[in-house]
Amino acid sequence: MLLGCIADDFTGATDLANNLVRSGMRTLQTIGVPAAPLSGDVDAVVVALKSRTIAAADAVAQSLAALDWLRRAGCRQFYFKYCSTFDSTPQGNIGPVAEALMQALGAKLAIACPAFPTNARTIYMGNLFVGELPLSESGMRDHPLTPMTDANLVRVLQAQSRAKVGLVAWPVVAAGAAAIRARFAALAAAGARLAVVDAINDADLHAVATACADHLLITAGSGVAIGLPENFRRAGLLPLRADAAELPGVPGLAAVISGSCSQATNAQVAHWLESGRPAIRIDPLANARAEDLATEALRQATPLLASGPVLFYATAVPDVVKAVQSKLGVAEAGALVEGALAAIAQGLIARGVTRLVVAGGETSGAVVQALGIAALKIGPQIDPGVPWTATQGERPILLALKSGNFGSRDFFAKSLAQLDA
Ligand code: ADP
Repeated sequence: MLLGCIADDFTGATDLANNLVRSGMRTLQTIGVPAAPLSGDVDAVVVALKSRTIAAADAVAQSLAALDWLRRAGCRQFYFKYCSTFDSTPQGNIGPVAEALMQALGAKLAIACPAFPTNARTIYMGNLFVGELPLSESGMRDHPLTPMTDANLVRVLQAQSRAKVGLVAWPVVAAGAAAIRARFAALAAAGARLAVVDAINDADLHAVATACADHLLITAGSGVAIGLPENFRRAGLLPLRADAAELPGVPGLAAVISGSCSQATNAQVAHWLESGRPAIRIDPLANARAEDLATEALRQATPLLASGPVLFYATAVPDVVKAVQSKLGVAEAGALVEGALAAIAQGLIARGVTRLVVAGGETSGAVVQALGIAALKIGPQIDPGVPWTATQGERPILLALKSGNFGSRDFFAKSLAQLDA
């Protein structure tokens, strides 16, 4: 085991694992800190926490527990993964978790680099851009939990860290790994322990990753990870793997569960309906009990399943969601829908479904929990950031867990077709 990663949310963990697999590392994603040691041969493990918006002290404690487990599993390098929009508050949790991990590892300097140019997240002179907009002018300005009102990451990270924060500016990054390393040394000599690193394209990310080959801890979005497998190959620790994304062949029925109400997911549901495929709508106003909603949906679906995949969707446009929320309450509506969709997932597995596409971050969390899944082997990519995955054990289930905004319009049908290709 080479690389041990700690991710501050579930879909972010998958995004990172997907990048590692694509660069040739066999990767397992665990849901929380595993209770037992690992089974199976992998090169990297990503422990998915839910620590982005909890109290900083809790995020630190959970991250240290994950680190402890990863160290015992034999990892040699560690990666703290956060969002490419650096989602955090003046209290944390990026700074406090990074510092705690550094202290536990005895790391002298760690980078902070959320850049992911493939998804239009770039950093120039310490300023994070989302597409053409500075972070503070992007939609992240109005995020309900972690509003980002300053695009300057040196300032943002300094506000939540005790350690001094420095900058490796783009001209240095563009000059390559040796120049970046020299800048690390200069920053460390000046007393900095965290270094925000610019990156505007994938070549920059590769140079940054090369320069971090001997860093015990890397803190970053999922972007820097594209360059890490090459470090291990260069050191003779990782063979060239053609089979990093291999998943077991799993016969069985297929279904789609959609609880995301994002624009992208609404379009994906519309595409499925327009193509005349079978679908069952879950209306949270039809019944106040999640189990009853699930029982009725499964009753309607059971005769359809044998002839092809069925979509179960609570997905709705903003006006409809608002009407439901004003009747039931925001949290209550969310919990009712998540409970119903999770119970539907259980019912589907009991009816022989082994291939399941799930749309929605919270929805995916509810489904994974209901199915009692502890770890997922990461397989081939469907769309950027979304791979197929397989549960461990004798009777694996194939799962594609999509966060709201991801995926092309034909994502549902395309992902299932990919399994038969
Ligand atoms: P995303 O990844 O798009 O944010 P999530 O699954 O994380 O999707 O969040 C969507 C939330 O909206 C979930 O809590 C889900 O239960 C809830 N929800 C889904 N459909 C409806 C609906 N028709 N009315 C109210 N809430 C809904």
